[in-house]
Amino acid sequence: MQKNNIPQWIKESERKTIIDTKRDIAIIVIVWVLLISIAFFNNLSDAIKEKTQTLMQTARVIFQEIVITREWNSGHNWVYVPITDKTQPNPYIISPHRDITAETGLKLTQINPAYMTRQLSEISSKGQGPKFRITSLNPIRSENKPTEWETKALKLFKNNIQEVGELIKDKSGTHFTYMAPLITKSECLVCHIEQGYQVDDIRGGISVILPAIPSFKIIPLALGYIAIGIFGIFIIVVFVGKLDKAYRELRKQAVTDPLTQIPNRRDFTMHIVQEFNRSKRESLNLSILMCDIDNFKAYNDTYGHKRGDECLQIVAKVIEQTLNRPADFCARYGGEEFIIILPHTDIDGAYHIAEKIRQNIVNLSVKHEGSPNHKIVTLSLGVSTCSSLDMIYEDLIKKADIALYKAKANGRNIVEIFKEDLSARTKATD
Ligand code: GH3
Ligand code: MG
Ligand code: MG
Repeated sequence: MQKNNIPQWIKESERKTIIDTKRDIAIIVIVWVLLISIAFFNNLSDAIKEKTQTLMQTARVIFQEIVITREWNSGHNWVYVPITDKTQPNPYIISPHRDITAETGLKLTQINPAYMTRQLSEISSKGQGPKFRITSLNPIRSENKPTEWETKALKLFKNNIQEVGELIKDKSGTHFTYMAPLITKSECLVCHIEQGYQVDDIRGGISVILPAIPSFKIIPLALGYIAIGIFGIFIIVVFVGKLDKAYRELRKQAVTDPLTQIPNRRDFTMHIVQEFNRSKRESLNLSILMCDIDNFKAYNDTYGHKRGDECLQIVAKVIEQTLNRPADFCARYGGEEFIIILPHTDIDGAYHIAEKIRQNIVNLSVKHEGSPNHKIVTLSLGVSTCSSLDMIYEDLIKKADIALYKAKANGRNIVEIFKEDLSARTKATD
């Protein structure tokens, strides 16, 4: 049976680690994507703000240039220019000196700031560059009537707003429209006093249009962030995956006996606690087998430590192969001792497995000249089964150990079962 597509053979505790790693990677990736998205929108908003500020500054400079030009004009009490087809006397200028003739006969007419601004505006409207126009909510010339956008801006100026600027998109493209107010100065009253204006009143405004603003390059910016995001996810997955692999390897090493490659005593302790508690909780049988190689000191003395190690590996393998239930668990308990947990197994079942192990070792017929009775490698085994009297798992191990001692005392190569009265059922040696 598979759970979350993780193979059954992976132990419960390890399975938890894998699931946790996947969840952790998902959390880190989500946080990373959120951070990247926040950074992207922050950058986008900053870039748009910066672009708007640059456009605002450009339009402001143009506005100020026009105001300076107007001040130059009014500073000269208006200027005279030759009358031409394009520059006809301005009917809105009420002055006895409006039109004059030079001694040479050249006819001149006065140009006031408003007329000059209009002419400059007409020139700008024909070019490809910035355009501007003068306007007012109360214009002397009807042509100076404000557009809808200009009307809104002029109303804002009355509420102490100093300037307005906005990117506007229409069929012709994107352009930036700017407007700032024209403040009435004493020299302006010459023409505008009849409209009721006083010094410092807002008389109108000059709107500046910066045409053909290239649209903001959002796609390259987004692609950059997507690339960083994907690269980050790649690093997270690879790095966390490697960390997880290293962690699992370390964890495996911590619970594996390096010589026999079966679980070590530490792993056994974790398992027995789990299994003992489960069997108590669910009122199930739980048996323990304690195995010890007979006369192993003599084996080492006869064949050397290296052969002794190989013998331990063989015995571990035989024990492992004899256990066929997935829940059965064997570990190296110490030196030449092995311990086996048999969940859901009663005393008869445990005895049967112990006997099978003993027999399989005998069947190997590994020569052991130092073994006084058998001349081959043999195992003695003690069996204990959980009873209601066992309050802690150590009781169960102690009982298996007592049975093992009895097997040794009774001549070795024997399986002994622990009984409360310490009388033991024995199996004759081969
Ligand atoms: P008994 O039948 O009573 O169990 O006798 P025994 O000689 O097996 O028991 P004893 O406790 O006297 O000796 C156990 C020996 O196991 C001693 C030690 O050299 C050997 N041994 C323990 N661990 C290892 C190991 O990792 N490798 C090898 N080669 N020998 C080991
Ligand atoms: Mg021993
Ligand atoms: Mg021994």
